[in-house]
Amino acid sequence: MTAADSTPAERLHAVRTRIAHAAAAAGRTPAAVQLLAVSKTFDAAAIRAMAACGQREFGENYAQEALEKQAALHDLPLVWHFIGPIQRNKTRAIAEHFSWVHSVDRLQIAERLSDQRPAGLPPLQTCIEVNVSGEASKGGVAPIELPALADAVSKLPQLRLRGLMAIPAPTADAAAQRAAFRRVRELFDDLNARGHALDTLSMGMSGDLEAAILESATIVRVGTALFGERTRYA
Ligand SMILES: *Cc1c(COP(=O)(O)O)cnc(C)c1O
Repeated sequence: MTAADSTPAERLHAVRTRIAHAAAAAGRTPAAVQLLAVSKTFDAAAIRAMAACGQREFGENYAQEALEKQAALHDLPLVWHFIGPIQRNKTRAIAEHFSWVHSVDRLQIAERLSDQRPAGLPPLQTCIEVNVSGEASKGGVAPIELPALADAVSKLPQLRLRGLMAIPAPTADAAAQRAAFRRVRELFDDLNARGHALDTLSMGMSGDLEAAILESATIVRVGTALFGERTRYA
């Protein structure tokens, strides 16, 4: 189904159905998998239409773009997640305007987010992005460096470390998709065995959410299947 021949309600229903089927196949309840609607490049009107269908959690990749949409949608009770690469000069905007951040991959950025989180807000709900595909150009901490980063992030007062996020290299091969997500889950299990109390695995997108749910994803981040193809690069 594409944006051109379907309504937001139909696309949301189709994605929720995919989530329910994958959860059932995994022996999990669909309520254990939260849908994060990734609205990057789509305008406030598109988000408002999706919110009118009952969607509440939205993910954005660019701080400036997100702040403009948040201002236009301030009348709605939406929950905003920052999921893009974090530039040093954007940490204050993220700390002040988001409930969640999924893409922390170095301590210096985490420290700035904690320092800049306003005292009146709850701690910033945080996932560390881990790079399980070994691509040098991609974001995410290397698995070998993950335990030290998780220990340090979990000590920051205004962040609450919830789990891991990953964007494995795209592949149409379901077995390869599952292997990458399984690796993320193993890293998550290792951290919990070391004393962390993580409850969030942010993994799976439009093309691979089933594989992610089979490997215990608790948040799937879905853009294209909800909003249609993006017409500009993001
Ligand atoms: C764009 C994006 C998504 C959504 O990808 P789709 O393939 O459009 O579902 C998910 N996560 C991140 C980090 C993204 O940048």
